[in-house]
Amino acid sequence: MSRYTSSIESILALETGKKPGQATTAELYNAVSKAAVEAADPAWKEEKPGKRACYFSAEFLIGRMIYSNLLNLGLLRETADWLKEKGTDITVFEDIEDAALGNGGLGRLAACFLDSAATQGVALDGYGIRYRYGLFKQTFEDGFQRETADDWQRFGDPWSVRRETEKVQVRFGDQTVWAVPYDMPVIGYGGKTVNTLRLWQAEPLQPFDFTLFNEQKYDEAYREKNEAEAISSVLYPNDDTEAGKRLRLKQQYFFSSASIRSILKAYKRTHGSDFSHLPEEYAIQLNDTHPTVSIAELLRILAGEEALPFEKAFSIAERVFAYTNHTIMAEALEKWDARLFMSVLPDVYPYIVMVNDRLRRDLLARGIEGAAQEPYRILSGGLVHMARLAIYAGHSINGVAGIHTEILKNTALREWYALWPERFNNKTNGITQRRWLALANPELAAFITEKVGDGWLTDLSKLKGLEAYQDDSAVLDAFAAVKLEKKQQLAAHIQKAEGVSLDPSFLFDIQVKRLHEYKRQMLNALSILDLYFGMKDGRIRDFYPTAFIFGAKAAPSYFRAKAVIKFINEIARLVDGDSAVRDRLKVVFVQNYNVSYAEKLTPAADVSEQISTAGTEASGTGNMKFMLNGAVTLGTYDGANVEIVGQAGEENNYIFGARVEEIAALETSYDPKAIYRSDARIKRLLDTLLDGTLDDGKTGMFEELFASLTEKTWNRADQYYVLHDFHAYMDTKLRVNRDYAQNRAAFTKKCFLNTANAGMFSSDRTILQYAQEIWGVPMV
Ligand SMILES: *Cc1c(COP(=O)(O)O)cnc(C)c1O
Repeated sequence: MSRYTSSIESILALETGKKPGQATTAELYNAVSKAAVEAADPAWKEEKPGKRACYFSAEFLIGRMIYSNLLNLGLLRETADWLKEKGTDITVFEDIEDAALGNGGLGRLAACFLDSAATQGVALDGYGIRYRYGLFKQTFEDGFQRETADDWQRFGDPWSVRRETEKVQVRFGDQTVWAVPYDMPVIGYGGKTVNTLRLWQAEPLQPFDFTLFNEQKYDEAYREKNEAEAISSVLYPNDDTEAGKRLRLKQQYFFSSASIRSILKAYKRTHGSDFSHLPEEYAIQLNDTHPTVSIAELLRILAGEEALPFEKAFSIAERVFAYTNHTIMAEALEKWDARLFMSVLPDVYPYIVMVNDRLRRDLLARGIEGAAQEPYRILSGGLVHMARLAIYAGHSINGVAGIHTEILKNTALREWYALWPERFNNKTNGITQRRWLALANPELAAFITEKVGDGWLTDLSKLKGLEAYQDDSAVLDAFAAVKLEKKQQLAAHIQKAEGVSLDPSFLFDIQVKRLHEYKRQMLNALSILDLYFGMKDGRIRDFYPTAFIFGAKAAPSYFRAKAVIKFINEIARLVDGDSAVRDRLKVVFVQNYNVSYAEKLTPAADVSEQISTAGTEASGTGNMKFMLNGAVTLGTYDGANVEIVGQAGEENNYIFGARVEEIAALETSYDPKAIYRSDARIKRLLDTLLDGTLDDGKTGMFEELFASLTEKTWNRADQYYVLHDFHAYMDTKLRVNRDYAQNRAAFTKKCFLNTANAGMFSSDRTILQYAQEIWGVPMV
């Protein structure tokens, strides 16, 4: 028995008094996890010399930690063997909840960055919020989305250590709370643990005392406890209401202020009150605008509490902060009502005013005055413009894919680019190959290692070596056999989880991502309906049997997105109930799409659906996961799709639809109602929303969906150009189907070349670019 496994047994004995054979899954999980943390290098707990980068993010969509940590520690096999010996299969840990402290791509990016930085020796710590409840759990009832709370700590949280001595106070206008850090070692590949993820939990100043006998005091203390805990209770609450907005602003300031304080605390231990070296010791990356208030907080502490001249404080902040933009549409950039801001953060607001004044002087000096200042002002129209604050008071702003950064420079933020072009740079997103290939697809990983060695685990560009085999039919057959195996595994899982049976010999066409109008799940849905009618009418023959698989959560208050879910579930029911098409068409919408589900779905796709309206998806990372696992992309010229086809070749993917410039040119002339009236095929599809073909249970959902595509509602009719791109999409989808049916070897080769060219989409590459081009942190 190794030291590691004997440590598992002694932790188990100590904490539960049980032997491994008697322990519950939760008990085993806790013991294994704690033994793994013990086995890791303890360096993460210590203060380290040298410059550190800090990744401030309101979201970390980590997923299940146990398998990836064991993989990175090199203990996955040993743990599985040990468990087997004790009569348990390591898959029991699939019962452990994902840590879903994020909504989607932005939060998952943060998690991939942590893995990559730890692996590549980049000194990067994460800072965020320890939400009591993460992203809601989704089920379907009669095809409608239902949400329940995500109690992710149900089995405990053995990876975190509460750091009582490092807690700090955070002050709002109407309350003061403790921010208590829970630290997690970030375990990189090879067991490197030089980095920490610090998540803050809000607690009342006075520990709640249940024995308070004075009724009034009891009520007061109870209220204080609830109001404090509310701050880190749920992943950003619904911000439709005033209270929701207030709470969200409090969350942003809560983790920003606590993180800045803890950084300054560590800094002062070596530099005392000489803050001039701060930019040599720390770089802070703002993941979108959510943590931008930390700029004002740093200014408040330096200029207010530490009495530095404002200019000096500003110059320090400018060199410390850098900002990542994730939004293309200028109108979607985050803004706060100035009065709300003032009331929640009265001590911070004056520093927003001072920065705004400085900006105005700066603009004047450049000859920009009056109305020309409007696109720059941080305070304007009674709003605080967070992105403007981040750009002005930092030294770097980056987009997350080449096309996105170009749009920022030329359109969304062109006024800023004109004045500060040197601040703009691109960092195309990436994904960690440890989770998304080694862990999610060990079969493909073994295949690749056999061909090109295992260097790809830490240097994904090694995949390029696969290209040498592109005409070797035995190799391509083996590659295709892996795909079939992953499809069989997914089918078995879907059978178990959804009660739906899939035939693995079908083509698997998958669209999984958050549900949003711009991502156009509706376009996919309409295309399936068109296939259905085409088959019924005899217009479509020789269609290779295809399973269309969806997974997506809709924000609880996003009525239209929920309608799309219901619509797709109704299409699934229609198709399933029709014996004339059942052998060629299958539709399934899986419940509760999350990181763990993504790990099963991505390796099993033949076709990856990436069909957002051109100019709306900043980058996407789901597209990269599919590419890496050998799927072709059926997509628009948007986000990182552009770079995916740039790497793997347009001929090995399926690009369709209007490009950014065409969309821009359409803006004023677009008339979807005219398309509806004149195009019989489209009319028939949309009419299913009204004529009873599909049933929304009298909710009015389908009628609203119909209106969204044909009438002006609170936004333009069909604002994402679903009808415009429909025929191009249909034609391309049918071409994919023909290619798959008629020349499987050629199709497999396309898939293979996608894997071989996925090297640049490793988040290792991305994080090294951040480290070298923005942060200037040394490798450790
Ligand atoms: C990768 C990932 C995303 C992001 O997907 P996109 O297709 O880039 O929007 C969202 N959710 C989960 C669970 C993921 O793993």
